[in-house]
Amino acid sequence: MGEEAAMVMESAYQELAPAPVKGGGGGGGGKKKRKQKREGGGERRKECRLVSYHELPDYMKENEFILNYYRSEWPILNAVLSLFSWHNETINIWTHLLGFVVFFGLTVLHLGQYFPQVADLIGHLSWPISKVAENVSSNIGDVLSGAASLMQASPAALAAVAPQAATTRWPFFVFLAGAMFCLLSSAACHLLSCHSHRLNLFLIRLDYTGIAVMIVVSFFPPIYYIFQCEPRWQVVYLSAITAAGVGTVYALMSPRLSAARYRAHRALLFVGMGLSGVVPAVHAVAVNWHEPRRNVTLAYEGAMALSYLTGTAFYLSRVPERWCPGKFDLCGHSHQIFHALVIAGALAHYAAAMVFIQARDEMGCPA
Ligand SMILES: [Zn+2]
Repeated sequence: MGEEAAMVMESAYQELAPAPVKGGGGGGGGKKKRKQKREGGGERRKECRLVSYHELPDYMKENEFILNYYRSEWPILNAVLSLFSWHNETINIWTHLLGFVVFFGLTVLHLGQYFPQVADLIGHLSWPISKVAENVSSNIGDVLSGAASLMQASPAALAAVAPQAATTRWPFFVFLAGAMFCLLSSAACHLLSCHSHRLNLFLIRLDYTGIAVMIVVSFFPPIYYIFQCEPRWQVVYLSAITAAGVGTVYALMSPRLSAARYRAHRALLFVGMGLSGVVPAVHAVAVNWHEPRRNVTLAYEGAMALSYLTGTAFYLSRVPERWCPGKFDLCGHSHQIFHALVIAGALAHYAAAMVFIQARDEMGCPA
């Protein structure tokens, strides 16, 4: 994004920012206004302007390669409204907010298969939603286009699709719920952590908890459906990853580990949790060597792993902003790329989960 565009956006933002304190007079110098503010005494509204990295309090200094457009110690209402203005967190917020909307849509869609009331509602809403889904699906491929066509179906057709004697769906909904929690807490963290040190600490911990939850719940559909006929492995793998998740969240609750300089340690904890999935994955491939859907699921899960690992590499290296500090403040910095890759990874995993469910629906378990 060009410097000029950024300036235009900033001035557009100034119009949205709260009006100066009353009685400031017109056209006077900033010093005079500030003095009057102080003389007015009491808790006056804080000035909401975008500041540079060097003006930030220490707890907000996280990425020295992003030089400008920071919101610092803004009142909560202004922080909420900044959802609709440009600053260096705008794209970070919207990437995960839109990701949340996509997963929410998928959840409603799948719930419609089991609850006639939800299916009814989908029937009423199907036209506008399916129009949007049609546009989106051309980009995300046939996974979502399948979803769009399901949305167009009548409640009766949806009920007919719902497998009667099919395998249970709760592990799949656990994944969808966890993904929504992760994406929403991340969006809230990026939107509101500029308010105060206390809220910042709380939201950062919530964000880490969201990531740990996302990793744990991602294990549920594959482990549950692959090992459905051998429940002891379900118990072994799902309890191991849940215990690892609880341990990770516990470790990350320490304010020390939330500090910027422990970025690599935190990432390592999450990568370790994710990569532990290699053990059940190798086990699953060995057990299902002759399963015709093996390669499709491996391709989806490979795409997921690649997305998450590439995203983590961007998060850790802070490329490209470290090459050109200040040039990617608003658009194109590493955290935005990381967010986009998280969504891509989660969608690939969703696609894999659909294949696992379909396979188990068809095969069942030998009596
Ligand atoms: Zn983030």
